[in-house]
Amino acid sequence: MGKLQDKVAIVTGASKGIGAGIARRLAGDGASVVVNYASSKAGADKVVADIEAAGGKAVAVGADVSNKAEVDALIKTAIDTYGRLDIVVNNSGVYQFAKIEETTEELYRKIFDINVLGLLLVAGAAAPHLGKGGSIINIGSAVTRVVPAESAIYSGTKGAVDAITGVLSRELGPRGIRVNSVNPGMIETEGTHTAGFIGSELQTAMESQTPLGRIGKAEDIAPIVAFLASDDAGWVTGELILSTGGLR
Ligand code: NAP
Repeated sequence: MGKLQDKVAIVTGASKGIGAGIARRLAGDGASVVVNYASSKAGADKVVADIEAAGGKAVAVGADVSNKAEVDALIKTAIDTYGRLDIVVNNSGVYQFAKIEETTEELYRKIFDINVLGLLLVAGAAAPHLGKGGSIINIGSAVTRVVPAESAIYSGTKGAVDAITGVLSRELGPRGIRVNSVNPGMIETEGTHTAGFIGSELQTAMESQTPLGRIGKAEDIAPIVAFLASDDAGWVTGELILSTGGLR
């Protein structure tokens, strides 16, 4: 029996990248998983098919996390489908670096709306359904420690995520709900390929400062999330776990 047997999880932004890896891992540990996507239905359907082929349970549900009506429908679908909710992984996120002189209101609103407002809407809609033993895991980023140049908006969103994790751990702790962050360093994903980070000087610089000598994979992050989702982490809340191969 898996350590997440009988639990129900929502993973936002699970159509690809880190989120897809987390969804596969939580399902492999026995959870029924709601695989959220924004635009990549085919990607989410593939994650669900892989989970089902491995004997797990999952459903793909489209929702833009920055849209309250769509978030409310996402949570309702989880409850209607599986009857309960135990684990929420706030993974959806976008990153686009820009020099401070090239920072625009549009870019600010786009990145903050998805990375911060989206997390708040999902946590707020999910909280009434979470009970004792519930776990919220926010995917932050090591950028709040590494502070790379030209990342002011993105690093600003992840600074907000660090703070929100602490706040929600205090707010929901009395109800037995734990809230933690996993803060990865650079991970090879569809997103980091599209952003041009893979194969860039930034990757080389990151690797040269990383004790374990490489950037990460989604499979490096998923087991940490699975631990925080499980009752094994029952005494862990309000923590930010830097997941970087030692880069700090
Ligand atoms: P990715 O490959 O670009 O995947 C992003 C995911 O977020 C996709 O599933 C995408 O869905 C979803 N998404 C985007 N906008 C959304 C919206 N409005 N509503 C719902 N879902 C939305 O990204 P990744 O590299 O795996 O990153 C995942 C998370 O890890 C992000 O929060 C990121 O900030 C964080 N992180 C990444 C790294 C890294 O180096 N990769 C490092 C530290 C932290 P669709 O494809 O359906 O649009």
